[in-house]
Amino acid sequence: MEAIVQSEDYLTQLRVLMEPKENLKQHGFITQPLTEEELLLKRRCLGCKKAMSQLRGRERKDPGIAVSAHAANNGTGSLPATEAAALVLATPVAAATEVAENQSIDPAKPAPVPRFKCKFHPGEVVDKYWTCCDQHCTADPCSGAHFHDPQDESLVKLVQHHQLYHTPIVHGRVGRQDIRAAVALDCEMGTAKTGDSELIKLTLIDYFTGEILIDKIVEPDVPLQHLNTKWSGVTWGQVRAAQRKRTSLQAPAGARRALWKFVGPETIVVGHGVHNDFKSLKWIHEHVVDSFIIEFKIKKRIDEQEKKAQEEAIAKAKADGTCVEPVKEDAVPTEAANGGAAPAQKKRKRKGGNLSLRGLAERRLNRKIQLGEGKTGHDSVEDTFATRDLVHWHITHPGAE
Ligand SMILES: [Zn+2]
Ligand SMILES: [Zn+2]
Repeated sequence: MEAIVQSEDYLTQLRVLMEPKENLKQHGFITQPLTEEELLLKRRCLGCKKAMSQLRGRERKDPGIAVSAHAANNGTGSLPATEAAALVLATPVAAATEVAENQSIDPAKPAPVPRFKCKFHPGEVVDKYWTCCDQHCTADPCSGAHFHDPQDESLVKLVQHHQLYHTPIVHGRVGRQDIRAAVALDCEMGTAKTGDSELIKLTLIDYFTGEILIDKIVEPDVPLQHLNTKWSGVTWGQVRAAQRKRTSLQAPAGARRALWKFVGPETIVVGHGVHNDFKSLKWIHEHVVDSFIIEFKIKKRIDEQEKKAQEEAIAKAKADGTCVEPVKEDAVPTEAANGGAAPAQKKRKRKGGNLSLRGLAERRLNRKIQLGEGKTGHDSVEDTFATRDLVHWHITHPGAE
């Protein structure tokens, strides 16, 4: 890939594209480390496995109280006996019809169905079927509990996995010699057993020279369900090879340490939807040029202009007394009615709104990338260069639409 000549002038132009610090939050960036309360909300419910932060406030218990479902079931928890009994129902098929002991069972009446706030399958999936209810793995939960029950995880562990850190200031000349003026990065994600996205690969290049600074497999600190190879391009073979050669980075701290060798607080970090990469790295950085945000703003401006022009045309037509049919966006005319033009029209509309890296690389750079999408996956080096070149395109085409 071509090098870009680094100059103060170019850096000034890059800074113009930088997202103002105060706007980062609205674009999905996390700008502050998590508080203790936010960290506690990262704990998962023992029943439905959702993070407490994903559950609506009224549905969760005080995050400070952690009653294990097991203890409650044995009558040693702090819940009343009836609630404790319903907290975990060992026999799920019977669960739906189970009634409290003091109620008489009338076979004529339909059994009351407990209304659980926390719904789950107490069994496990074996050969695509739940062991608890013999239903297919996609079936709705067969059992539940009256309350969500956060896992009793220590704050130390929560900090290790979830806490986010600012780019540290590097002291001393030796530490600073590798710090770059601007870099571009791309992360690939796998899926943890919990369903969360986890960092599995990190690629970092020097924005100007194009030197590949990092291109490494990252090992998450939680068990993985799958690598999303079809998209991430990362295979178990690559993971095992990296483990054998000890070239992999440990997530998230090891990956951040590797990054911070090249990135100081003043380094401009270029990415596409880079807030997702930052989240997976549990990293807070303020100097950001995001090709997605740049394109998103252009698209928004065009959409607004088009809307305004349309409104003006309607207003003018009304004033002139000519009848104007409002354009229905969802209306799909039949093939026969318009000679099969509808699909092409729809396609064009979608293409104009496509802000994916793949779509933009084709439109702006005339470059086809991610050809392995859905099969062999993305190449994170290719993606990183596409992002950098997209930003460079905007520098060399100021005011482009
Ligand atoms: Zn079940
Ligand atoms: Zn739950």
